Amino acid sequence: MFGHCVQCSLTIRAERSALATLFISDLHLDASEPAAGAQFVDFLALRASRADALYILGDLFETWVGDDDNEPYRDRICVALASLGQRGVACYVMHGNRDFLFQSGFARRTGVRLIADPIIVELYGEPALLTHGDALCTADRPYQLLRGVVRSPRWQQSFLRLPLPLRRSLAEQARRGSQRHTQRTAGQIMDADQAAVAAALRACGVRTLIHGHTHRPAVHEFELDGRCARRIVLGAWHDRGSALEWGPQGFRLEELPRSPAPHCA
Ligand code: MN
Repeated sequence: MFGHCVQCSLTIRAERSALATLFISDLHLDASEPAAGAQFVDFLALRASRADALYILGDLFETWVGDDDNEPYRDRICVALASLGQRGVACYVMHGNRDFLFQSGFARRTGVRLIADPIIVELYGEPALLTHGDALCTADRPYQLLRGVVRSPRWQQSFLRLPLPLRRSLAEQARRGSQRHTQRTAGQIMDADQAAVAAALRACGVRTLIHGHTHRPAVHEFELDGRCARRIVLGAWHDRGSALEWGPQGFRLEELPRSPAPHCA
């Protein structure tokens, strides 16, 4: 057994350090919901520009059908990311289940560095395992089968050879299919599986896991092989923002309120 999973208070340490590393995920940016994009652009300019680094752990965009997609909304987000790099802040982007087709062209457009999923990073002396989180939802068998297909280089090469308008319409169909699957499937099945969490931490020899995907922001503390371990889950940006700030003094998982009168990004 892996001990009892406790959902504790979101704020672990109140102290705010001068410099910190920021983690966000699941912004699901799309032209149809401009408020999230506007909040993200402000977040980059006001908050992330003062950070040591920004990690985006997947699903920055609702869909991404290839680095050649020149849709104006996506382009504005890419330009905002590029200006963060120009201010000297390193930005690392992991693939999510929506934007797993980010390739080198996206990295060139934005100046971000694409990172593997999963990856271990050192945070002010403490190692942490980062992952988008979809691979942890092992009880969702239909999704894991689909994931295996669309993450294969062969499938991706075939898809990226299709004309851009066709890729866009296929992505829209996939998005609707995903929404139907989410509505039909029990929430527990779509959550991270505790055995998968424990196995990932053991395999990597770390005690901290940071992920998104499930849209259930929380800090879960539990016992793993007689020692304390924690799983920090980032929230989605549908109604408000969510960010984890990690500095030398500790970490805090924050809700970022959205201004009532958003301007469009
Ligand atoms: Mn996701």
